[in-house]
Amino acid sequence: MARRRQLYEGKAKILFEGPEPGTIVQYFKDDATAGNGAKSGVITGKGVLNNRISEHLMLRLQEIGIPTHFIRRINMREQLVKEVEIIPLEVVVRNIAAGSIAKRFNIEEGTRLPRAIVEFYYKNDALGDPLVSEDHIIAFGWACPHDLEEMTGHAMRVNDFLCGLFAGIGIQLVDFKLEFGRQWDGDDSHIVLADEISPDNCRLWDTHTSEKLDKDRFRRDMGSVKEAYQEVARRLGILPEEGNGSDLKGPEAVQ
Ligand code: ADP
Ligand code: MG
Repeated sequence: MARRRQLYEGKAKILFEGPEPGTIVQYFKDDATAGNGAKSGVITGKGVLNNRISEHLMLRLQEIGIPTHFIRRINMREQLVKEVEIIPLEVVVRNIAAGSIAKRFNIEEGTRLPRAIVEFYYKNDALGDPLVSEDHIIAFGWACPHDLEEMTGHAMRVNDFLCGLFAGIGIQLVDFKLEFGRQWDGDDSHIVLADEISPDNCRLWDTHTSEKLDKDRFRRDMGSVKEAYQEVARRLGILPEEGNGSDLKGPEAVQ
């Protein structure tokens, strides 16, 4: 099959032109980066796992009425999505202090926050994705007040839903990052959830042991990264119980 035109190569995914106008294909790579590219490596099978995990979570969120870019999974590493105009913000929701919020406010990692906190970061690698206020966002025109209200509302609903979903499989949703896009319908636009939801951009801790089941294992050189992602997929019911990961290697696994 002729290779589609590549539109963009990011740190974790490659975007290709989709088969119909207004669609794109997200190809999930095994590449992993941390600290804004300061550290990089390959986690064999990560792309396959994230493609499946993100598909699963996006479908569950669509079922509760969250608009998402997801159309369908194409094969082990690729999914078809609606092309959107990405809003250059990382929307982070936090339930438990970890990572940068723990450092910034000197809160011990693992401390439950008084309530869920939504933060916005300007998506700009050259600047190191700085934390921004709603005023920055509106003044610099990255989103309007209405977009912001929609993004915050969606982010809180996603959090409520995913907290419950993960609690049911013995996982605490510590925090996560979302990206949203604008979808145009004539002169009207609405906000849809885009990018991916996976252990690359969620902190997931085992409820009983607090074992980390996410990209912090890679950031902090803890090892068993693929095994942790596999465990999340297994608990979500999207990997066979006996799965040993040998089917997660790469292109030869593409259906
Ligand atoms: P990055 O290194 O920029 O994070 P990734 O490797 O995550 O990139 O690749 C995905 C890129 O595609 C991101 O820049 C993300 O904003 C963008 N993207 C995600 N979903 C969509 C979509 N539906 N339409 C257009 N762009 C998207
Ligand atoms: Mg990304």
